[in-house]
Amino acid sequence: MIIVLKPEATHDDAQAMLRVIEAQGLQPLYLPGVERIVLGALGDERVLRTLRLDGHPLVESVKPILTPYKRVSREMQRHDTQIDISSVTVGGRGFVVMAGPCAVENHGQVNATAAAVRESGARVLRGGAFKPRTSPYAFQGHGEDALKLLADAGRAHDMPIVTEVVDPADVELVAEHADALQVGARNMQNYRLLQAVGRASRPVLLKRGMSATIEELLLAAEYIMDAGNPNVILCERGIRTFETATRNTLDLNAVAVLKLRSHLPVVVDPSHGTGVRELVAPMAKAAIGAGADGLIIEVHCDPASALSDGAQSLDPDGFARLMREIAPFVEAAGRTFAA
Ligand code: PEP
Ligand code: MN
Repeated sequence: MIIVLKPEATHDDAQAMLRVIEAQGLQPLYLPGVERIVLGALGDERVLRTLRLDGHPLVESVKPILTPYKRVSREMQRHDTQIDISSVTVGGRGFVVMAGPCAVENHGQVNATAAAVRESGARVLRGGAFKPRTSPYAFQGHGEDALKLLADAGRAHDMPIVTEVVDPADVELVAEHADALQVGARNMQNYRLLQAVGRASRPVLLKRGMSATIEELLLAAEYIMDAGNPNVILCERGIRTFETATRNTLDLNAVAVLKLRSHLPVVVDPSHGTGVRELVAPMAKAAIGAGADGLIIEVHCDPASALSDGAQSLDPDGFARLMREIAPFVEAAGRTFAA
């Protein structure tokens, strides 16, 4: 339920009403706006109706939130949420490019890649330490050692880092090293993991499951927010369709739909979205046109030797070219590259 207060309602009035909401066993939300204070009440709608808030002299309107997700909904918050990954803000005017290798392989590889992507304008370094691989025989990532290498490379090249966590038991360890936690496509509906990252004090990059609907993605984000973490960045990374020409089908409808339905920032991963190096730049441009707040791109200093996802990884020159090519699209979208 969204409760819009009259302009004359004060902060103290709002707090008093929040206490009434809480006393009914509902979750109270305080959502101060520019002109009016808005309150939220989450829980059993029948209890809410007994409160008869619409008759309150300081209440302008009470309306139900019709979507199954609440906290992530645009109905709950009209303005865009901005999320700081350390010093880099996602969801504001600044367009954020995150880049780096699929997996952290060794000191030389992650540092050469980090130096190159930073030089070309990436602001966040990505790299997998714990890799969720389809085959148990594929490279699984170097775990904690890789986390340290990635964190060192981030510091050395002045970029915050984002890396995937695959196990609720690892959240604390990963959060110690990483500036943002990635929940991968294969784990989008791992509810224990969503709750665990929801209790962490790091922003979360939540990737859409390859067979997940937009509503399921938003409900996954709701799990994280409901567990206490408001800093969720949504990521479209391609879905599985009947098409076989590309690894996945990058669903750019989702970007526009997510921006309409949610206040959370949206980034697009055209690397996993296509699986084909040559398609990364065109789909990056399309993503900007669709309203994305940023991109996450796989880059490897030597893609031919990559231990994972080499076919979709750009080399440093390819990434530099991509950054030059997307610049006019970023400008046309009314954005500037994040400082
Ligand atoms: C990745 O970012 O390397 C990754 C495994 O992505 P996804 O979860 O989207 O497959
Ligand atoms: Mn990958």
